[in-house]
Amino acid sequence: MNLQVVRRIHFSAGHRLVGHEGACAYLHGHNYVVFIHATGDLDSVGRVIDFAVLKERVGGWILENWDHGFIVAAHDDDTRRALAAFSSHGLKQKAFVLDRNPTAENMAHFLAREVSPKVLGGTGVRVVKIVVQETENCSAECVVE
Ligand SMILES: [Zn+2]
Repeated sequence: MNLQVVRRIHFSAGHRLVGHEGACAYLHGHNYVVFIHATGDLDSVGRVIDFAVLKERVGGWILENWDHGFIVAAHDDDTRRALAAFSSHGLKQKAFVLDRNPTAENMAHFLAREVSPKVLGGTGVRVVKIVVQETENCSAECVVE
């Protein structure tokens, strides 16, 4: 038997894609929706995990690190310089440096492989899939093998 629960999380963030041929190379943002698929043994109540715990742990990480911030690729020197200039003028700007281009694919992979195992440690629950939706029509999935 394989039971999965799915928690949906909304957040807003800015990004740009280095090397993109079109408009995604410009600084812009999305109202993202993330679907966290988790599995594990049922507890005495009959749950894989309480939905509130998924929201608190994975959603909490997203809200703290990505929500209303700018997700910038580590190799995006131009944007990193612009963000630094913004800060040096005393303007507050939340930024998260990702070790790769912040595509929906890379964000899903990062949440599935790096964030989820860390924040769900000790719960006995593991994330098996993360879906990152950039728009209603476009999303990327990372399935953890
Ligand atoms: Zn975009």
